[in-house]
Amino acid sequence: MSKESGMGKPTGQALHELTLHEMHDGITRRAFSAAEVMRAIYDRIAAVEPKVRAYVTLTRERAEAAAARADRERQAGATLPPLAGLPIAIKDNLCTKGVATTCASKILTGFVPPYNATVVDRLERLGMAMVGKTNMDEFAMGSSTENSSVTVTKNPWDTTRIPGGSSGGSAAAVAAGCAAAALGSDTGGSIRQPAALCGLVGLKPTYGRVSRYGLIAFASSLDQIGPLTKDVTDSALLLQAIAGLDRRDSTSASVDVPDYRAALRQPVAGLRLGVPKEYFVEGMDPEVEQAVREAIRVYEKMGLTVKEISLPHTRYAVATYYLVATAEASSNLARYDGVKYGYRTARASTLAELYARSRAEGFGPEVKRRIMLGTYALSAGYYNAYYQKAQQVRTLLRRDFDAAFADVDVIVTPTTPTPAFRIGEKADDPLQMYLSDIFTISVNLAGIPALSMPCGLTRAGLPVGLQLLGKPFDESTLLRTAYAYEQETEWHKKRAVVK
Ligand code: GLN
Repeated sequence: MSKESGMGKPTGQALHELTLHEMHDGITRRAFSAAEVMRAIYDRIAAVEPKVRAYVTLTRERAEAAAARADRERQAGATLPPLAGLPIAIKDNLCTKGVATTCASKILTGFVPPYNATVVDRLERLGMAMVGKTNMDEFAMGSSTENSSVTVTKNPWDTTRIPGGSSGGSAAAVAAGCAAAALGSDTGGSIRQPAALCGLVGLKPTYGRVSRYGLIAFASSLDQIGPLTKDVTDSALLLQAIAGLDRRDSTSASVDVPDYRAALRQPVAGLRLGVPKEYFVEGMDPEVEQAVREAIRVYEKMGLTVKEISLPHTRYAVATYYLVATAEASSNLARYDGVKYGYRTARASTLAELYARSRAEGFGPEVKRRIMLGTYALSAGYYNAYYQKAQQVRTLLRRDFDAAFADVDVIVTPTTPTPAFRIGEKADDPLQMYLSDIFTISVNLAGIPALSMPCGLTRAGLPVGLQLLGKPFDESTLLRTAYAYEQETEWHKKRAVVK
């Protein structure tokens, strides 16, 4: 495929286009240094970031120091861990010691965390070089990154389109070659949906697999942190680095973390794939459906068994999610009062006025909508009808998956009903925006892991995502199923041409 066609091009030699494992191999072979990689990344940022706007904050000194440290250690004869000195971007709802963390909200103006999120700590201990903090929908509420109070991030494949959300900055940074990989968070699809729309691999681990300590809470029973990467091997590498029990997060699970990279090479023939009939709905873009059906045929050719399954409560997922998520958000966001940190109004004469004005001026419209919806759902008289009912339906959704996984090993679906839409197209229609998560939110309500990977490009050159859903704590099977597909196809090698 040629550059001119806008359809991406295979991985070339440019350092900023490489995956984490390719960078690590090159550094180990002494083909180039970590410092050279970092220079290439910042050159790329200088060239394309004005068009893409993936970052809220760049942390060049911190990144260059980490790269230089890796080079020094290698010079001294050390064997470097796979992430040492490599450029990784961090979503701006993850606390980073000494670096502003805004959630892309005015209400966190001036907040500089005195500590790192556990995931950031773990990556830095392995030598990761943090390139910067990425843009997002305010408090991770949205599907397009248009709800950011900072800037609108553009899709590197077509800068008139959204990159997805809420981890749109993380996805755009990686797809544009402005970071080798990134961390995002996923409450209802915020890793998988932008990964799908930007041609990346995005993994939402099982609830409890990765510590949420230092992740600024949106909906605590749904939030998980995970990687956005250029391929499945990198996804395995990053998950390996961040997974596992953390005493500082009471919901993190004491479950053994397997060797994910070793799992990639396990055979897949004989695995049973379930295709839920409820996920091939009217209104789905025909090019998306075609790409997903073709991917399923690839799996059949590889010797997997494919069977149609049913997840009968799927049609209640969007309504259930928007009750549970907003209820939890209204409670989590009560802490922003203008007193202890962040934005404080300049015009208040009483304490009540200070609270009210700081919140009125500090939160954006979507966040306010969610706080109001959630407060309503939790209020006396409505609690049973809305919040409690939603929790009951959530159990039914979980049981749908339990029943399905009695017969299949992996469930396969489209990640999104359409490719990336145009900036502004759904900005005034919250319901349309909410419906773009229709295929991703059941997974969060059930707590199971899921991965999105590239499986095609539309005629207009926009990426399409394939979603794989797995059993609780069985990320290994997801990764190896995804890796097997990668071995048969070239989609993960396509790179966006930023125009
Ligand atoms: N788009 C969904 C929402 O707006 C999911 C967001 C997320 O996963 N953080 O809530």
